[in-house]
Amino acid sequence: MNNFAKSLVPLAVLATVALGAQAADFPIKDKVVTIVVPFVAGGPTDRVARDLAEALRKPLGTTVVVDNAAGAGGSIGANKVAKANADGYTLLLHHVGMATMPTLVRNIPFKVESDFEYLGMVNDVPMTLIAKPMLPAANFKELTGWIAQNKGKINLGNAGIGSASHLCGLLFQTAVKTDMTAVPYKGTAPAMTDLIGGQIDLMCDQTTNTTSQIEAKKVKAFAVTTPKRLTTAALKDLPTLQEVGLKDFEVTIWHGLYAPKGTPADVQKRLNDALKVALKDPDFIKKQEGLGAVVVTDKRIEAAEHKKFVAAEIAKWSPIIKAAGVYAD
Ligand code: ASP
Repeated sequence: MNNFAKSLVPLAVLATVALGAQAADFPIKDKVVTIVVPFVAGGPTDRVARDLAEALRKPLGTTVVVDNAAGAGGSIGANKVAKANADGYTLLLHHVGMATMPTLVRNIPFKVESDFEYLGMVNDVPMTLIAKPMLPAANFKELTGWIAQNKGKINLGNAGIGSASHLCGLLFQTAVKTDMTAVPYKGTAPAMTDLIGGQIDLMCDQTTNTTSQIEAKKVKAFAVTTPKRLTTAALKDLPTLQEVGLKDFEVTIWHGLYAPKGTPADVQKRLNDALKVALKDPDFIKKQEGLGAVVVTDKRIEAAEHKKFVAAEIAKWSPIIKAAGVYAD
């Protein structure tokens, strides 16, 4: 090695140490990592986020909190993260809305495919078709009779344009060929309160929000949106929408974790490693199973596969939404 090359060695060592230090130092102990949930507290996505925050604390070695930035069907919270510091301390937990928003909402202020780093998927969540407790129908057949008699008067709650409940409600209206009045909330937690009180008639919502209400008989449940029946005790007797005659009806919601574009690669890896540990946490798995959700164990746990999956979901939902002809500005 000549003298010039020798003089470069300490620099190279320093550079390696400096780069390595980024990953090793992330997250700085006592510096809070925030998971932004683009819906209100107490709803289905919030529940997943709070369980996940707890499961991430140990592998990350710092406090992880949830920040609810609700509104506009999830796009306010997603935009907040798209514009946040790309340092790994502000993350987004979002669902299928990442794939439906680009088609459902014409002017979202961010780009799903290029404004985020994808950190891995978290879970798959079935949905349930539920109604106010006083709705006079005991099964799906009676419900369709009630829908036919009440055309033009039915209110369907959702969490805003682009949300999972919006998407599911849209597909349901198309399947039963009946227009209903969409009543948007900042999440399905307040929509659930109004459904229980009878202010709205119907809702299609994730099992992470509906299981306990179905169990307590505070709402009527008519069917699940998955192709197979569920195994969770409170939901196992519900037929699938396909079984009761809505051919091809299938909606399964998934959640994924994101960071702002430009988050350093080593920080992304550290977050993905921590996510992998969290998804194997027996406590997290048990809580999710109790809510009818299935924790991801397949390749979508890898960031690159997460990105591929979202792109495939955009391609899947786009023609369905376009065929239904619903957009928002
Ligand atoms: N994820 C929403 C919430 O947490 C509900 C939805 O998307 O329908 O309220």
